[in-house]
Amino acid sequence: MPRFAVTTPLYYVNGLPHLGSAYTTIAADAIARYRRLRGDEVLLITGTDEHGQKIQRTAEARNIPAQQHCDEIAAEFDRLWHLLEIRYDRFSRTTSPRHSQIVREFFQRVWDRGDIYLGHQQGWYCVGCETFYDESELLEDHICSIHHKPTEWRDEPNYFFRLSHYQEKLETLYAERPEFIQPDFRRNEVLNFVKQGLKDFSISRAHVTWGIPLPNDPDQTLYVWFDALLGYITALLEADETASLDNALRKWWPINLHLIGKDILRFHAVYWPAMQMSAGIPVSQQVFGHGFLTKDGRKMGKSLGNVLDPYDLVEQYGTDAVRYYFLKEIELGQDGDFSQTRFVDIVNADLAKNLGNLLNRSLSMLQKYCEYTIPELEIAADHPLRAIAEALPEQVAEAYDRYHFKQAGSLVLTLSQASNKFLETEAPWTLYKQGNRAAVERVLYSVLESVRIAAILLSPIVPDLSLRILVQLGYTLDSIDRLDWAMVTWGGLSAKVLKHSPKPVFQQLS
Ligand SMILES: [Zn+2]
Repeated sequence: MPRFAVTTPLYYVNGLPHLGSAYTTIAADAIARYRRLRGDEVLLITGTDEHGQKIQRTAEARNIPAQQHCDEIAAEFDRLWHLLEIRYDRFSRTTSPRHSQIVREFFQRVWDRGDIYLGHQQGWYCVGCETFYDESELLEDHICSIHHKPTEWRDEPNYFFRLSHYQEKLETLYAERPEFIQPDFRRNEVLNFVKQGLKDFSISRAHVTWGIPLPNDPDQTLYVWFDALLGYITALLEADETASLDNALRKWWPINLHLIGKDILRFHAVYWPAMQMSAGIPVSQQVFGHGFLTKDGRKMGKSLGNVLDPYDLVEQYGTDAVRYYFLKEIELGQDGDFSQTRFVDIVNADLAKNLGNLLNRSLSMLQKYCEYTIPELEIAADHPLRAIAEALPEQVAEAYDRYHFKQAGSLVLTLSQASNKFLETEAPWTLYKQGNRAAVERVLYSVLESVRIAAILLSPIVPDLSLRILVQLGYTLDSIDRLDWAMVTWGGLSAKVLKHSPKPVFQQLS
């Protein structure tokens, strides 16, 4: 069975999850669901990055131990993932003891390779960014341009990773594996950055106690790159397995896909593969950087007061609506916008009307005209709906394979649109009056079969809605995970008397 491991970033637990994290995780979940539908053995990894001075200070401000703060925020991420129907397999936390074991071992390998040295870091330090800046990068009075807070002058010994040694090796990687960084335009951004010459980067912090101590110098703790990125490896351990690099890498390495926001592309596409090379392990297969979300065309920000809260959104509109909008309306990779009006209009038009109402009307007619019985019959190969439905799976698969959810969704809608039109032109209510029962059955069967196929093809995007549709069509599924790709073959809707009376599968939003 082919294997597919996909990661979201390990989210920083400085605060509650925001919409950007939800967006990445929804997309990763849809990819994982599609791979499962295709029969792959899948591992969806998410988790939390829990170390650093910012966490320490946040916990201090809350007057609680840092670990307690991390536990609380990690639980909030988990709660949101359940609300959003994220079916993850591993939740990797950087404060777990198993993780520090993996980190120490990985560090040792890179150390033995001679790629870590003690250097000196000087500069203006923003605790919010946890980054050193040159004076020229700051606002007046050494104010951080991102946080609008004063930075602190720091002059400290730090350990560095010899990224400069990997310039050529990385350029070879990008040349030999053009698919390594996606989409292509982001790949070009990374290539341009690398071309300017790579500098070694600092991997430790002095005076930060909330972190994993360096094995060779316990006065320093590891900075995010040699901590959080390694959480992807820790996640690969089985629950009962001893934490060792060999165990972690045995089954699932290399990771097939790191799905991330464009802001952390450089770390995943430049730092991370160089670290993997240094540790002597194969490089991950792909890094995909998606775009950012705006609200009504404007950047979201606390100061603008236009931050969308993912909990509110899902509680107000439901999981299917939220997942559908972000996957179907925004091209993964491009920046995207959320507007309330557009959101409501699109979700109502596509899910409530185009798909939901089509099912409801057809089932009501089946109940009225055909004793609510799905007939046993063969639909001719040149039937207009069958022709579309039979061509669809291959086209949809091609879109999903490239993470083009927008395109996959649009393709599926062509089938439900055609079915709506077909219902209007064939007018089963007239055929019924004319006493043509066989024709009524043919029309309704072909429409219901189209809805069934559409529901399965959409299930990576709207798993709950798909499940409700299939249950109405007489399936006794307890979980959408029971589906498989073979079920999208035309003719799969079998003869039976339906049990559940027609009821709308998607309530209109207002
Ligand atoms: Zn800052």
